Amino acid sequence: MQSIKSVAVGPLNARMTFHSDFCEKHTYTRGNKDVVKPVRMMILNGKVVCPRCELEADEKKLQRDLESQIEFSQRTKNFNTLEKRSMFRDRTVSRATFDNYDVSEPEETKNKNRMMDLIKHLQQGEVFNIFLQGLPGVGKSHLGYAALKALNVPPDPDNPKDMGKSCLFINMEEAASAIKDSFSNKESKYTEPYVTQLMGDADYLVIDDLGAETGSEHSDSRASDFIHRLIYKVTSARQDKATIYTTNLTSKKLYQMYDSKLVSRIMQKQQYIVFKETSDKREMELPF
Ligand SMILES: [Zn+2]
Repeated sequence: MQSIKSVAVGPLNARMTFHSDFCEKHTYTRGNKDVVKPVRMMILNGKVVCPRCELEADEKKLQRDLESQIEFSQRTKNFNTLEKRSMFRDRTVSRATFDNYDVSEPEETKNKNRMMDLIKHLQQGEVFNIFLQGLPGVGKSHLGYAALKALNVPPDPDNPKDMGKSCLFINMEEAASAIKDSFSNKESKYTEPYVTQLMGDADYLVIDDLGAETGSEHSDSRASDFIHRLIYKVTSARQDKATIYTTNLTSKKLYQMYDSKLVSRIMQKQQYIVFKETSDKREMELPF
């Protein structure tokens, strides 16, 4: 970075001529007194200026620019959460938008439109959760991520109070295995408290593939204690925020896997988007 002196003095040297006036604004301290030290004015590009005043103004402007850059980068932290903190099982999901959601069946068109409509309500400040339910491969994660893309708003550069929105996509299986790894790997940052806080803090969160983290989709085993703790704390922290869930599981299966109190919590304030036509009707015993 160029020093303040060289920025200011460079052009001064180029075309400076002394002027007969003096600037009387500058003082120095002698004893306990401020003494005026007159500074010879100069002609710079045809204008009479005080070089000290010019230098001080430049310095202040640099300082202000630097402060506003720092402040803006802190404000964009929220906006960058989606890209920097999300946890994917399948990284291609990070390219998902509403535009590139492939629609081949009427149900997909209907669900995509419903999702886009629900997102508009969230953007207007309403708070509810969205539950995307159906068998694998119907694009639930895609729609979930596309929703976050739409909700991820950068801060207004002209409004220092605007912090933007933070969005986060967390694949449950990834999160669970990262946390499990942190139990023995002391270097890992993905500790249970870290992941819990990350998920609790985001303005908009996708919990992707709920239930897959238990690895027991096709068995009757239940989610482990730390998963219960994680979901319990995250849902507590998010009572006033929207959460989008995707799951391959039926509600009945969710009740087998998790505490019923926890499932009831997850099901609160839910708007359902269900892929029924692509699903196995015997499996999908949906209460709605
Ligand atoms: Zn001056």
